[in-house]
Amino acid sequence: MFAEKIGVNGGNSWNRSTEEINDPQTSDSRHSATNEEKNNTIIAYEEEHPEDAAKIDKFIDAGDNNKLTEDDIRNIKYLIYTAEEPYRSIYIRFLQKYKIGDGDLGGGAYYRPWKHTVNYTYPDSFGDDPRGAYTTFFHECGHGIGDQANETKWLGSDTENYKIYSEALGKKVSLREAIEYDVYYNEGNPHSMTSIANNIIASGKSGSTGNVENVINAMKSGSSGGLGKDDVQLYNAVKNEYQRTTGRDATFEAVTDVYGGVSHNELRNKGYGHSTDYWNDTTNPGKELWAEYFSYNMAGDQKNLDNLREYFPESSKVLDQYAADIGG
Ligand SMILES: [Zn+2]
Repeated sequence: MFAEKIGVNGGNSWNRSTEEINDPQTSDSRHSATNEEKNNTIIAYEEEHPEDAAKIDKFIDAGDNNKLTEDDIRNIKYLIYTAEEPYRSIYIRFLQKYKIGDGDLGGGAYYRPWKHTVNYTYPDSFGDDPRGAYTTFFHECGHGIGDQANETKWLGSDTENYKIYSEALGKKVSLREAIEYDVYYNEGNPHSMTSIANNIIASGKSGSTGNVENVINAMKSGSSGGLGKDDVQLYNAVKNEYQRTTGRDATFEAVTDVYGGVSHNELRNKGYGHSTDYWNDTTNPGKELWAEYFSYNMAGDQKNLDNLREYFPESSKVLDQYAADIGG
């Protein structure tokens, strides 16, 4: 299951301070188009693709407590019609496989797999968002697509089982395996724990006599308890350096959430993200990374997407191939 809470009233997760909400939006022309430009784009697209328009109208009009306004619908349609392929096709193709359950939960947002519903809170899930407006709307749809595309798995999410051959690892890897590789072992990723630990060891600073493998295994279990003194020093040095060099603004939200997802939240920055319990399901980091990746492609926030690709280089290859497979 991957029910989750995201939102200002969402319990212990994803609470945002006013300061974070007021972060400047990333500049993106798709979010700054005028209503007239949006209307013109929508009319032109729907004249050419009336069947797409009918699917979207049906989807967007459903559910309990649906409070989407004409303005919201214009914004959502514009983002769909101007999304780059294969994302536009993916979005439209799977619209009939899941639906809006509740449009205003009064806090949080989640996908409910056993009902195939996306559930939201109005207006939090749709309006201003430091990651780009409507990111949460598309994030939950991304969960619906991962669950219902059935590329590899009839029951459950594709991202649990989908694999591609990885040159770096010399074998077929799942998204979960690619994520662990990027977070812990990928020396081509300057943010991996191995890269950071090697730099500390080379510098001769505190922690430089620790053992990298011991430290990584401890991080995976979420605690430095049980390590010897030298290893604890390296553990702390690696964790501090990762937190120091990783941004704390919303553009790193998905990065640190999923780094937290494979470390019992040891590598989560600033408290953003899901609860430690949520990560006990080892398939959830893959589900979250896909939903984040999908939403950033749909909502068009380049800075967020660039950060994900930088921190997850091998995982991005799996995600790109998955998108190509279900969108082609
Ligand atoms: Zn999610």
